[in-house]
Amino acid sequence: FAKEKGRNNYHFFDPTLDKHLQQRRQLLTELTQALRGNEFELHYQPQVQMSDGRVVGMEALVRWRHSQRGLVPPGEFLPFIEGSHLEERFGQWVLKKALEQQAIWARSGHLLAISINISAAHLLAPGFANFLRRYLSEHPELSPSLVTLEILESTALDDMQRAGKVIEDCRNLGVQVALDDFGTGFSSLSYFRTLPVDLIKIDRSFIFRMLENDSDCAIVESVIYMSRRFNRPVLAEGVETLRHAEVLRDMGCDLIQGFGIARPMPAGEVERWLSGWTWNLDARSTAH
Ligand code: C2E
Ligand code: MG
Ligand code: MG
Ligand code: MG
Repeated sequence: FAKEKGRNNYHFFDPTLDKHLQQRRQLLTELTQALRGNEFELHYQPQVQMSDGRVVGMEALVRWRHSQRGLVPPGEFLPFIEGSHLEERFGQWVLKKALEQQAIWARSGHLLAISINISAAHLLAPGFANFLRRYLSEHPELSPSLVTLEILESTALDDMQRAGKVIEDCRNLGVQVALDDFGTGFSSLSYFRTLPVDLIKIDRSFIFRMLENDSDCAIVESVIYMSRRFNRPVLAEGVETLRHAEVLRDMGCDLIQGFGIARPMPAGEVERWLSGWTWNLDARSTAH
C-alpha cells in the first residue's frame, strides 16, 4: 500500500521523472519490435594468440541497425534491455545467432571459437545451462570447447553462489567461461580463488594507458602474472598499437584483441579479413 501511494505521489509531483519513464517505455517498445523485426546484428572482433599470431576466436558484439539512426552501439540500448522483461529473450537471440554463425564458419573450414557476452540476469535465469545443453546436443556440428561465455565480474558479485553453480554447469558441458572487464569490479583478486573460470580478460581501460601510466602498467603486469600462477590464460582487450602488443607479449600475455588487429566487423566480412590477416610481431623480436 505504501508503495502504491508513493508511486502516485511521484506521478503527481514529478513530471520530469514521469517523462523519463515514458521515454524508457517507448524505447523498450521499440526494442521489442527490433527483436521481432530482426534489426539486431552481431559484429565480430578477432582474438589472436600471441605465440603464433593465429586467430583463435571471434567475440560477438551486438549492434542495432536502426532505420533512422543507423548502426547503434550496445552502450546506447543495452542498459534499457538489462533489467527489463526483454533481457532473457534478447540474450537467447544473441546466443543462438552467435552459435549459428560459428557453425557456418566451421562448415566453410574456419575453426573459430566464438565468445558470447552473457548478461547477469540471462546467466542466472532458470534453465540457462539446460538450454545450452539442449542446443549443443541438437547441433552436433558445434564443438562446446569452442564456445566461450563472457561474463562480467559484477554478474558473479551479485549472487556468487548461484553464479558459481551456473558457471560449473556450463563448464561441465565443455563450454569455456571468461571473466570480462577484469579489474573493474570490487573483489577481482578473490575471484582467482573462488570462480572456476577459464580465461581472464583484462579491461581495456588498463591497456589504454599502460604505456604512459606506471600504475596501469603494474596492474596489467600483475594480472598477467597472477593468471599464469593460477594456470589461466589471459587476454588483453583494447590493444590499439603494435607497441602495446609487443609489451604485452613480453609480459607473457596469451591473447590479444583490439582495434590494432581489427575493429568488430559484420559476419560477411570475416572470411575476407581472415585471408588477409598477417602477423608482423615476430619479425621484430623473439624475446619469448
Ligand atoms: P566488452 O564485452 O568488454 O567488449 C569490448 C568492447 O570494446 C566493444 O565495444 C569493442 O568494440 C570495444 N573495443 C574493442 N577493441 C577496442 C580498442 O582497441 N579500442 C577501443 N576504444 N575499444 C575497443 P562495444 O561493441 O560497444 O560493446 C560494449 C559492451 O557492450 C561490451 O563490452 C559488452 O559488455 C556489451 N555487449 C556487447 N554485445 C553484447 C551482447 O551481445 N550481449 C551482452 N549481454 N552484452 C554485450
Ligand atoms: Mg566481452
Ligand atoms: Mg571487456
Ligand atoms: Mg566492456
